[in-house]
Amino acid sequence: MDQNDFDLDQLVLKTSNLHCSSRSLSLSADDDGAHEIAKCSTVGKLISCKTLSSNLVRSILYNIWKLEGRWTIREWGHHKYYIEFSSEEDKKWVMDRRPWNISGGHLILKNRPLDVPLEEIDLSTTEVWVQAHGLPLNMVAATENAYKIGEGFWKTLEVDDRSGKLFSGTKYLRFKVEMQATSPLFAGFFADNPRSKKASKFWVQIKYERLSDVCYKYGLLGHEHRSCIATSAATVTDLSGRTVALYGPWLKAKNTTALSCFKPSENPVRHPPFQNLPSYQTLSQINQVSTKNQRRFVCLVL
Ligand SMILES: [Zn+2]
Repeated sequence: MDQNDFDLDQLVLKTSNLHCSSRSLSLSADDDGAHEIAKCSTVGKLISCKTLSSNLVRSILYNIWKLEGRWTIREWGHHKYYIEFSSEEDKKWVMDRRPWNISGGHLILKNRPLDVPLEEIDLSTTEVWVQAHGLPLNMVAATENAYKIGEGFWKTLEVDDRSGKLFSGTKYLRFKVEMQATSPLFAGFFADNPRSKKASKFWVQIKYERLSDVCYKYGLLGHEHRSCIATSAATVTDLSGRTVALYGPWLKAKNTTALSCFKPSENPVRHPPFQNLPSYQTLSQINQVSTKNQRRFVCLVL
């Protein structure tokens, strides 16, 4: 055995016994320096079943943002991006207009926390503005309903204070939520009808602003319904026993023709066949179905 072999053996012996209490370094943290970087940068993840190159993503964003200031984008994982802006104003402009639609995909953008490694930032949730349609005026005016309805998502972050106010022209409750990006969308729920002495319910339709492609079978983001391989679709049944497709173009806020799943349009939308499909009627059941299908269909999105 020569000297080199001996040193190597000693090194292997030492490192094989390394454990947490052996030695650790106490590192410095510069929060002010980190803040300077974080205030002009963002991390993102694209939810899409297509594979898009970072060059394509860059050129699409370049065309839709049209920022005058310089900005850069780097891909650090599959469909995961780190974006830096030359000014706080440009970043704010981009963040205020989330979510962005990239070739049908849903781009999640988040602020970068100062004390979390890039790889550990939670990019599983996204922030979107939603509208609750079908409510009477006294329920739109009760803006605390936004927080009650928010339980069907992840949480309610902000309520549009124009909701239910005079001269706002608002006929729906508008609020911003944080929700799981790879779960089936929360499409609506039945609410108790206060005008009726008998037990009766009415449908409240959730509509999403700036919505990207959505699978109309199970309401998944970034998942084109035309290429969906699911053989059935989620449905909803009212008290009269009428069963309709839960997901459809009525989910998009900009679609003012399709009012809700029960009032899709004057021209009926073609749906998949309804035999042997799951159906549910209440908010809690909707949540159960969402959770159940999340595991089943998440593989179609990632
Ligand atoms: Zn699908």
